[in-house]
Amino acid sequence: MKWTEEEIAILRDTNKTHGQLKSLLTNRTISSIYVKCFSLGIRRSYAGGGKGSVLSDAKIEELRNGEFLEIVNGHLLGDGCIGGRHQRFQLSNTHFDYVEYTQEFLNKLTERKVNVGGGKTRTSFWAEGRTSTSTSYDARCSLGNFFKPLRKKWYLEVSNGKYQKIIPRDLELTPLTCNRLYIDDGSLRSDLKSHSLAICIYTDDFLEDDVDFLIEKFNEQGIGATKESAGIKRKRDDGSRYRIKMHGPVVIEFLNYIGECPVESYKYKWDIKTYQNRTVLCSQCSNIIEEWGFGPKSRRKTCSKKCRLLNRAELLRNRRKAAKELASLSANI
Ligand SMILES: [Zn+2]
Repeated sequence: MKWTEEEIAILRDTNKTHGQLKSLLTNRTISSIYVKCFSLGIRRSYAGGGKGSVLSDAKIEELRNGEFLEIVNGHLLGDGCIGGRHQRFQLSNTHFDYVEYTQEFLNKLTERKVNVGGGKTRTSFWAEGRTSTSTSYDARCSLGNFFKPLRKKWYLEVSNGKYQKIIPRDLELTPLTCNRLYIDDGSLRSDLKSHSLAICIYTDDFLEDDVDFLIEKFNEQGIGATKESAGIKRKRDDGSRYRIKMHGPVVIEFLNYIGECPVESYKYKWDIKTYQNRTVLCSQCSNIIEEWGFGPKSRRKTCSKKCRLLNRAELLRNRRKAAKELASLSANI
């Protein structure tokens, strides 16, 4: 069936998706519409296997200035990547609720219906014949005109076809960005015995300069993060790997800054248990001692070394006195 002028005029409206064209051209199949557009050189910046829609420049601009970019940036700092022929964004994770939540969020802003991908079970083989299986899911988003510039910003070609993820210097750190980075690559460690609480962000794959930059960004937000070497076990050609650490009350500041955990499966990363600020009076000078730890009771009794020594002397004196009394008591019997 020959294409009429009217039909071709409809095809030339690049603001319409192939699906929208189909509803206007009831006699045509979606694949014949696709092929005809292709042969006429009418291009739509679609992706996702050709099922996508074109987003207007205004819409793309909107995505660049809001939550969408903040979330994508957070994942790019974490487990997300951009790659492939369509410059597709992808986040893989073993927790379905997290991937589904992310996919729904991306879909809402891009006005697309993309399903969660992956779901394949992989078996890993460890030493001594141990194995473990895990199922990974993918949240995906294909928006060529949005992700192409991001891919250029975040990836540096280090050798032929090999890329190193880098952190663009115009990155804006926001609570939402940090929230996703933390879920992807952060861990919370609470040691009830030593009363220590810490967050570690595994930035191992970034270069040292980028880790320094990220720490500076945290510090700008008033979050006292520090750099820690990941150890020589995982040393690479151009130097060691580094991680970002936060300790004690900084952990609480950070968790307050990034807001709540959006999904059930990662709530454990927010569970600081009974970690709190406790105050006691010094037993020697009555100074107020502030201390962070688990539970309401502080282990400390004195404020300074001087008071600690005084306290120890007093303890020894009391002990000697008690021993003397006991001795005279038994002598009298
Ligand atoms: Zn004191």
